[in-house]
Amino acid sequence: MNCIFCKIIAGEVESSKVYEDDHILAFMDLHPVNEGQVLVIPKEHIDHFSDIPEDLATEIFIKAHRISRKIRETLHPERMGFAVHGYGVSHAHFIIIPQRCSTDITNSKMAKIKNGKIIFTADNLPAIPRAELNRVSEVIKNGLVV
Ligand SMILES: [Zn+2]
Repeated sequence: MNCIFCKIIAGEVESSKVYEDDHILAFMDLHPVNEGQVLVIPKEHIDHFSDIPEDLATEIFIKAHRISRKIRETLHPERMGFAVHGYGVSHAHFIIIPQRCSTDITNSKMAKIKNGKIIFTADNLPAIPRAELNRVSEVIKNGLVV
C-alpha cells in the first residue's frame, strides 16, 4: 500500500509526533496554514472518515479536543478550527487548525484553480522544516494530558 500516513505509522517516514496510543496517532502537519496544525488519524488504514467505527471516531475527537486546548494554551491562536474535508491523503484525518484570522480555513492558500475548478490542496503551503515541526511538537507535548 502506498499510503504516506501508513508509512508514518510504520516509522518508514519521519514525523513530528504529538500523541500516540495503540489506535491513534497525532502529528504535525507538514504543510500547515499556521504554526501548530496537527493531524489526528486512526492507525488502521481507513479511507473515509465516516467508515471509522463510532467509538474510535469519538476517541479521535476527544484526543483532538484535548490537543487543541494545549495548542491554545501554548501557541495562543485567535481561534481553533477543526476540519475533516475528506480530500488529500486517502487515509482518514481530523485536522486541528490554529487560526489567526477568520479566513484561515477557507483562504486562497488552501485552493487553486485547475481546468476551471477550485481544487483544495496544500500545494500552495510551504513545507515546514523538520527541526521547526519538532520544536513546535515538543511545545505542544510538554505537559499534554490526553
Ligand atoms: Zn493509510
